[in-house]
Amino acid sequence: MSEIPAFLSKYLEEQYGCEAERIKSGYGKKRPVTLRANTLKCTAEEVERELARAGFAAERAPWYPDAFAVEGTEQALLKTELYRSGKIYLQSFSSMLPPLLLAPRAGENILDMTAAPGGKTTQMLALSGGGALITACEKDGIRFDRLKFNLARQGAGRVNAMHLDATRLSDFLRFDKILLDAPCSGSGSLAPKPITEALLRGCMRTQEALLTKALKLLSKGGTLVYSTCSVLKQENEEMLRK
Ligand code: SAM
Repeated sequence: MSEIPAFLSKYLEEQYGCEAERIKSGYGKKRPVTLRANTLKCTAEEVERELARAGFAAERAPWYPDAFAVEGTEQALLKTELYRSGKIYLQSFSSMLPPLLLAPRAGENILDMTAAPGGKTTQMLALSGGGALITACEKDGIRFDRLKFNLARQGAGRVNAMHLDATRLSDFLRFDKILLDAPCSGSGSLAPKPITEALLRGCMRTQEALLTKALKLLSKGGTLVYSTCSVLKQENEEMLRK
């Protein structure tokens, strides 16, 4: 962010105290290049071998054997056969956490409420060994096309993709597990888009509507994972307390 808006600075200071400076100095920093082996198409070992053959030094994350940190640029990885064939998906480590928490299993009926571009949708299908029954909703038309493209490329064609506002899903539906990776201000991204107070308020309204709907659609005893790429408490802890 070229300049941190005063309202965001104030929230960060109120919510994080002396840690706020560290968060602010993180904006604009370069993120390590990370990816996930798409086990719907190949094994993590195959990805490791192919990366080495293509000249990329790579290290596997100790907490998730399908995740790699790679030395090199995203542009160089995008040109590889591994990428073009959908055997890898470029994804930040932090965005791999919500599907891991949800722990999808074969046979479970899972809803991905806000799915595009689909990194977490395909990760959830892969984590279930290809056996979960996933419905993926996306409201935005252009992003929905991107989702469909990624699902096809990643070998996740069996996902039921719906171009729809998830708050309009029928209340009669029930899901064992729901991922709500909500639209947010992006205040936790290293390269956030310009954030205004109006944008933040709009995101909070959408988050609340989607969360209310998610709770209606969740089966008794089911699991809901709510995630955002914001560090603001009003989009996270405080949203869940409402
Ligand atoms: N989970 C995605 C991934 O890992 O690739 C990223 C999701 S992104 C944070 C949030 C998405 O929610 C955006 O694509 C946005 O267009 C979509 N969205 C916003 N409001 C929505 C709604 N009411 N219903 C469905 N999708 C919505």
